[in-house]
Amino acid sequence: QFDVLVVGGGPAGASAAIYSARKGLNTGIVADRFGGQVADTLAIENFISIKATEGPKLVAQLEEHVKEYDVDVMHNQRAVGLSYKNGYEITLENGAVLSTKSLVLATGARWREMNVAGEQQYRGHGVAYCPHCDGPLFKGKPVAVIGGGNSGIEAAIDLANIVEHVTVLEFADTLRADEVLIRKAKSLKNITIIKNAQTTEVLGDGKKVTGLSYTDRISGENKQLNLAGIFVQIGLIPNTEWLKDSNVELSQFGEIIIDAKGATSLAGVYAAGDATTTPFKQIIIAMGSGATASLGAFDYLIRQTPS
Ligand code: FAD
Repeated sequence: QFDVLVVGGGPAGASAAIYSARKGLNTGIVADRFGGQVADTLAIENFISIKATEGPKLVAQLEEHVKEYDVDVMHNQRAVGLSYKNGYEITLENGAVLSTKSLVLATGARWREMNVAGEQQYRGHGVAYCPHCDGPLFKGKPVAVIGGGNSGIEAAIDLANIVEHVTVLEFADTLRADEVLIRKAKSLKNITIIKNAQTTEVLGDGKKVTGLSYTDRISGENKQLNLAGIFVQIGLIPNTEWLKDSNVELSQFGEIIIDAKGATSLAGVYAAGDATTTPFKQIIIAMGSGATASLGAFDYLIRQTPS
């Protein structure tokens, strides 16, 4: 039986595993794909103290750091269930069951995609999902934001400070963002909002994005925009479907609800990173929350009666 079992091998999980192992706890980490979203990231320029790096390089360093410690690393294993029987039990897709006194859930999230031609081809070459991460790459250039919800309008306001011009494309006939954000966006001269717009294709020159095509859903007309970047802001989905039948409380968006110590609704079960209600989703924040969750689990374990 583990003292702490970490589910998820992204920056939150790696950080949690290192903190647990450094407390001398019997620690395991089980991950579907070690590195998580970082493995899909090209340039990283906001991981403080490292001016610039690349996702795969940071993943290799994370793994190397975890392996410095006595951590049982279980790769390519997917958790499908959480239950309790003389400790917590994590069931894996292959049928194996791992038993542990405490848990850190760090299964991250995934961006909802547009599913249009060109999106995959130009992902990381103009198609972006994170304005905090990639906004500066488009300094002085025209970009589009897909989605007129809070994250889309926030992204447009954020990007308007950096880029030449932002066109927001919203599928519906109204914006779903808060009124205060819409007012702010409308007050900025370099933001244009187009409603009833269905993006149909990401256009490129074979190397990078050059624009997009969309259909005006009212007139049925096909239109094109010339762009250097496209920020897709149509939702971040937490990887928590596997917890639906457990008693871990989730928010209306499926995020694991945590408190300041990373504690969930179940005693001894902690969570960290993009899978949780943590408001901002970034590598440095995920790592910090992994440390918090792990220290929370340690706090819990030292208060248990010795068996
Ligand atoms: P994730 O990185 O999502 O890791 C989740 C882990 O859990 C993975 O190992 C996954 O395989 C595993 N997992 C999921 N489900 C299961 C399961 N059922 N069983 C077992 N394991 C499971 N942030 C920045 O700070 N700077 C950037 O420049 C930046 N650029 C980005 C670019 C892109 C394209 C993307 C997608 C994100 C970017 N981000 C960036 C955001 C950043 O990557 C995330 O905030 C961060 O990775 C979250 O860490 P996490 O550990 O919570 O989750």
